[in-house]
Amino acid sequence: GSYPIDRIRGDFPILSEEVHGKPLVYLDNGASAQKPSAVIDQISKTYETGYANVHRGVHYMSQIATDAMEDARRKAQMFLNAADEKEIIFVRGATEGINLVASSWGRANLQEGDEIILSVLEHHSNIVPWQIVAEQTGAVIKVVPIDDAGIFLMDEYEKLLSEKTKMVAVTHVSNALGTIVPVEDVIRLAREKEAFILLDGCQAAPHLPVDVQALDVDFYVFSGHKLYGPNGIGVLYGKEALLDAMPPYQGGGEMIDRVTFEKTTYADLPHKFEAGTPNIAGGIALKTAIDWINQIGLDKIVSYEKELMDYATEELSKIESIQFIGQAQEKAGVISFLVGDIHPYDMGMILDKLGVAVRTGHHCAQPVMDQFCIPGTLRASFAVYNTKEDVNRLVEGVKKAQTMLS
Ligand code: PLP
Repeated sequence: GSYPIDRIRGDFPILSEEVHGKPLVYLDNGASAQKPSAVIDQISKTYETGYANVHRGVHYMSQIATDAMEDARRKAQMFLNAADEKEIIFVRGATEGINLVASSWGRANLQEGDEIILSVLEHHSNIVPWQIVAEQTGAVIKVVPIDDAGIFLMDEYEKLLSEKTKMVAVTHVSNALGTIVPVEDVIRLAREKEAFILLDGCQAAPHLPVDVQALDVDFYVFSGHKLYGPNGIGVLYGKEALLDAMPPYQGGGEMIDRVTFEKTTYADLPHKFEAGTPNIAGGIALKTAIDWINQIGLDKIVSYEKELMDYATEELSKIESIQFIGQAQEKAGVISFLVGDIHPYDMGMILDKLGVAVRTGHHCAQPVMDQFCIPGTLRASFAVYNTKEDVNRLVEGVKKAQTMLS
């Protein structure tokens, strides 16, 4: 069937807001997506009709909240096609998920001289946690380079892999360039060396179907807020046997079996990794966000967004002296560019005055910017509710800014 763009846009109240007297064109979805009414309403509904702390009370409200949170876990399990709900750990977001693995898995499994492979494409949150654990354990970080189109260099990756490789942690889709990394090949090659694999799925989960069993990946993370869900909730998927063998990340309530001052035993999965009161209303509304995505269908989203990205690339390329940063064939969600020698920040300010929200800067991916010897880019990042009209407003805005700034 066709793509119900009007109904989709109608689901997002913020899209009828005006910015500086202009209708909002929101193209900063890579940083955070807007929320449909269903998600916003679910947050209120939880507090109004079904709220208490989870996993603690025998009383009615605690049961309701606990059941809803566990439903959300099963929904996330299905979304990623994980084998078991125990493999879904609720975290604050991708950053916390990666820190959990780097800290818990890393400190238990990495030794002096072991190697961790990352790529130039990584977001800082898939670099710094590994640097911290490398420093603590004596492990060494190796970095897969990219070419001038922003493509992950598989040959170079293959050369870096060795018996010393213990972990390969790479992004599924680059947040700075939009490059889709061929993760099937990344995983297959890592397996040959018996290395473990973490994929940062922040920019993939909203744009591509993800099947952790088909991928045979060890760890996968995403953030709810980029997936039309609330802030402060995200998912770490991990294979049960690995999570089971890992020590806790944080200690506290919810994650224990029995506490005495002599010895404490830990709760079973997934609760072992969920110390403290979680984001209850956020977790419950993450289920709503996933339901909302599913009723459109990721297959439809993929083809709609591809058409939109193609249109945007074509229209933007008509602008004189535009330079696309990241020109991989396989891209999702993101178009990064510069215009002449105009500073991205100046261009971004003018676009904002015209009601067009784009991101400017290094996008928390400074190694990518270093590769292209630039301090930053303008980044238009797309979502289910963007339209060709949004693209036209962006292109007009860039042209206007160009005239004003040159
Ligand atoms: N990884 C990628 C590829 C991202 O794009 C982001 C957010 O921009 C993150 C990780 C960090 O996500 P969060 O800030 O939600 O933890």
